[in-house]
Amino acid sequence: FTEKKLLEEQLNITRQRFEAVVETAYDGIISVDGQQNIKLVNDAACSIFDVERAEIMGANLSRLIPQRYRPKHVEYIKSFHKSAVFSRPMHERVAVMGLRNDGVEFPVEVAISKIKVGTETEMTAVVRDISERARLIDELSKAATHDMLTGIANRRQGSKMLIKEIYRCRRFQHQMGIVMLDIDNFKQFNDEYGHPLGDKVIKWVSDIISGSIRETDIFCRWGGEEFLVILPETSQEESFNWASRACESIASSHFFEKITRQITASFGVVVTGGESENLDFLIEQVDKALYRAKENGRNCVSL
Ligand code: GH3
Ligand code: MG
Ligand code: MG
Repeated sequence: FTEKKLLEEQLNITRQRFEAVVETAYDGIISVDGQQNIKLVNDAACSIFDVERAEIMGANLSRLIPQRYRPKHVEYIKSFHKSAVFSRPMHERVAVMGLRNDGVEFPVEVAISKIKVGTETEMTAVVRDISERARLIDELSKAATHDMLTGIANRRQGSKMLIKEIYRCRRFQHQMGIVMLDIDNFKQFNDEYGHPLGDKVIKWVSDIISGSIRETDIFCRWGGEEFLVILPETSQEESFNWASRACESIASSHFFEKITRQITASFGVVVTGGESENLDFLIEQVDKALYRAKENGRNCVSL
């Protein structure tokens, strides 16, 4: 009799210990039976999925999974069920999506384990909401490849894409145009109107160019008030014509009511078939062409 009592006591302690862990965990913990019906759910899981414990207990796990992932999830559960392994992380990071009560999907990291209960297999998932991490990764990778002021590609990304295009030209024996443009007398503008308005001019010019290129063209902010445009599959004549139109487009657009001064830019154009030129050589060439446009009085295009 006392031995039975002792065992009960021990069992009770073990249960309390388990409950304390489950309820204080930051991660969501969800257990399901062989039919994927929810048998246990902790506070953290309820808050991650924004559900009430009462409404989710006994419900099918599929409620917490976006519709389009449900078939794949069923397959996964089946294979894990058969596997000899008793616990494993579910997938690569950010690969699994959860479905919140309000219909919003969010990325989760999941680890699962299984136990035999009589003839059934119950599974327990430990679920971590990684929305914030995923958002940070997005933000960082955007910052690494894009220019914050204009939102277009930065110089590093532009160079990378230019190198790729050079190889493509060589491989397929096509021509491409490379255009460098630089805002005219910009130092004066800054001195007269201030740096913040100067920033707006940079963005304004960037928007005009963005609006005048094709999907397949590449556009980046090369430096302060310098931009590089790559026109794949484009001949010398076409490249020159494009630059002339863009030049005209900037000169004929009005930046801001109170600014009477006309804003213009100068353009240098180079065309290559990707022969043997390297990036530095091409940039040097297009810089020279741009310099010539400045010498020719600015607001013009030079080949
Ligand atoms: P040019 O017609 O020969 O190009 O004359 P410029 O005055 O435009 O050329 P310069 O290279 O002498 O000056 C470029 C100026 O651009 C200097 C710098 O203050 C300004 N600048 C560079 N980056 C930024 C930026 O991000 N914001 C602002 N507002 N100004 C910038
Ligand atoms: Mg400059
Ligand atoms: Mg300039």
